[in-house]
Amino acid sequence: MQKTALVLGGGGFIGGHIGNKLKDEGFYVRIVDIKPKHDFWDHNKICDEYIEGDLRNPRVVEKIMHPIEGNNGFDEVYQLAADMGGAGYIFTGENDANVMHNSAMINLNVAFEASRQGVKKVFYSSSACMYPEHNQLDPNNPNCEESSAYPANPDSEYGWEKLFSERLFLAFNRNYDLDVRVARFHNIFGPMGTWTGGKEKAPAAMCRKAAETPDGGELEVWGTGQQTRSFLYIDECVEAVLRFVRQDKFMGPVNIGSEEMVTINELAQMTIDLSGKNITIKNIDGEEFYGKYGFPCPVGVMGRNSDNKLYQEKMNWSVSQPLKVGMKFTFQWIDKQVKTFQPQQ
Ligand code: NAD
Repeated sequence: MQKTALVLGGGGFIGGHIGNKLKDEGFYVRIVDIKPKHDFWDHNKICDEYIEGDLRNPRVVEKIMHPIEGNNGFDEVYQLAADMGGAGYIFTGENDANVMHNSAMINLNVAFEASRQGVKKVFYSSSACMYPEHNQLDPNNPNCEESSAYPANPDSEYGWEKLFSERLFLAFNRNYDLDVRVARFHNIFGPMGTWTGGKEKAPAAMCRKAAETPDGGELEVWGTGQQTRSFLYIDECVEAVLRFVRQDKFMGPVNIGSEEMVTINELAQMTIDLSGKNITIKNIDGEEFYGKYGFPCPVGVMGRNSDNKLYQEKMNWSVSQPLKVGMKFTFQWIDKQVKTFQPQQ
């Protein structure tokens, strides 16, 4: 019988790619998203059914969780829907109530209905933002081992909600036998994701800035640029997720990310090199930033890197693609978007 999958938040970046992969594998795919359509994918590439719906509404979730005709429950449910964005959205404090309320409502509804409607497996996408701030103050030596999560002290309300929802899905596993997999994503990037408008993340923002900046110009980087991060290309993320979902040895939480840590200025320079232009990095911080944007410079923790020991040990597999390869594909795609949607006057 054809396997069935439900991708919640499939109108977004990671969900679109997961839908695409599942379609290639022959799954029947139902996507649900609050957006009427995916911003970049043709729907026939990522799903069989695209339902526009607000997952904060329990009645909507009850309805969309109904098995596909002839099935007795979805084989795989990917819960990716969340109210989220990059540093400019998560760390200013302006969106805290919405981020917590909207995502928690979605997760409460999804865990409840999945356990009632015979879903065989649920994947929940948590985030590295749930790790304690005090372990990420040293840019050269951050600790993001899974076991370091408690005592909890995330630096954003987004991270606190993720921590709550991880626990929620694990509680549904203990009390209702819901088969769950929980992963903590560390900065996933690639084509077919948000690259403008305020919700874009650092790699996409760098690519857009490098694409828009003329030869000889300046590329603005938020903060000192010495804060460190690692970034995982979307194809490797999808593979890591599917391998994790389809094994029955452990349910997580586990990191899914890259261990290639770079400073934000190094990421900027890599993007500039890919653009082939002569562009200078301009770090803006403190008052200068405040004056320009009206809020303090949002940079997040000073250091963060994925720790992949647990994933490797349990799965006997690891991501391996250098950051530069993924950034090349991403820059090419965003450069094309910039030229298509913002033609030179
Ligand atoms: P995204 O914003 O592109 O996708 C999320 C989708 O959820 C969007 O399409 C949005 O419209 C949808 N959504 C929001 N509210 C909804 C609602 N009420 N009802 C229905 N749909 C709703 O984000 P993404 O980058 O694809 O991330 C997917 C998941 O992975 C999220 O849970 C995110 O927190 C998590 N995550 C992502 C990253 C990353 O680097 N991209 C890192 C850590 C965690």
